[in-house]
Amino acid sequence: MRVLALLDGTIADPEAPVIRADDLGLQRGDGVFETVLAVDGKPRELGPHLDRMTRSTSMLDLPAPDRAAYERAVGAVLEHWRGGREVAIKLVLTRGVDGGDGTPTGFVLASEVAPKALAQRADGLAAITLDRGVEPGLADRAPWLLLGAKSLSYAVNMAALREAERQGAAEVVFTTPSGSVLEGPTSTVVMANGKTLVTPPDALGILPGTTQAALFRAASRAGWTIEVARIDVTELYAADGVFLASSVRRITRVHTLDGKVLADSTELHAQLSALYESEY
Ligand code: PLP
Repeated sequence: MRVLALLDGTIADPEAPVIRADDLGLQRGDGVFETVLAVDGKPRELGPHLDRMTRSTSMLDLPAPDRAAYERAVGAVLEHWRGGREVAIKLVLTRGVDGGDGTPTGFVLASEVAPKALAQRADGLAAITLDRGVEPGLADRAPWLLLGAKSLSYAVNMAALREAERQGAAEVVFTTPSGSVLEGPTSTVVMANGKTLVTPPDALGILPGTTQAALFRAASRAGWTIEVARIDVTELYAADGVFLASSVRRITRVHTLDGKVLADSTELHAQLSALYESEY
C-alpha cells in the first residue's frame, strides 16, 4: 500500500514516475527529506518535522519548504490511505532539475511501516558501534559537510547498516574517533540510568530527533531527569538501558552492543514507550 501526493494536494499514481532523469535530487542526492509517523490518521510531530526540514533546506541553501503545501499533501495521503493503522510518510524536496529555474521538486509518499521495524520495536535489536570519523567541532568548522542536515544523501547511512548486517547486528551507533556517541543512521540514541535519560548534543553534528524530543518532554513532565550531554561509548555498555528513537521505530531497545549483552531493559522500555505514547 502506497499513496503519493503532489504539493498541490493532488493524488498521483505511486507506480508512475514523478521524478525526471535530470532531477538533482536523483542525480546527486541534492535535497532534503523527512519521515513522519501517522497513527490512526493523525500525523505525529508534523510541526517539528517541518521545522527541521526548513533547517535542513537552509543548511543546503535551498528554498524553504512550503509548509501549507506539505501539510495539505500529508492530509491528502492520509485521507486516501487504506492500509494499516500506522503510516510512514516521506516528505521530499529536491533542488529540482539540472539547469532549470531553481523550482524545487517536492512530493509526499505514504507507505506501510516495514515489518522488520515493528518486530525490532517489540523484541529489541543488536547494534554495533561504528566510527563516523567526525570529531566534535567539525560541524561548525566545516558547514559544507552538512552534518546534522537531513539530506537525501543517505547512502553512507545505508552502507553502515549493511556493515552492521555483515557483522551479525541490525543497527549502528555512530561514534567519533575518540568514542563519543553520536546517533544511529536513522535514529537518535537515548541512554537511561535509573530515572535519568541522556542524549548527545546536536552541536556534535547530529540530527535533532523529534521522537527523542517528544519522549524527553513527556519524561520531564513525569518527573524524570533529562540531560543533553556527551556520552562515552563505555557508558553505553554499563547503562541500565540503551534505546534508538525515531519516528518509525518509536522507542526501540538495544539488547546487545558490540557483541556485549546489555542490562535487561525490558521494563524500562515499557516505561519509556508509555511516556512517549502519552504525548498523543
Ligand atoms: N538521526 C538521524 C540521522 C535520522 O535520520 C533520524 C530519522 O530518520 C533520526 C535521528 C530520528 O529522528 P526522528 O525522531 O525525528 O524521526
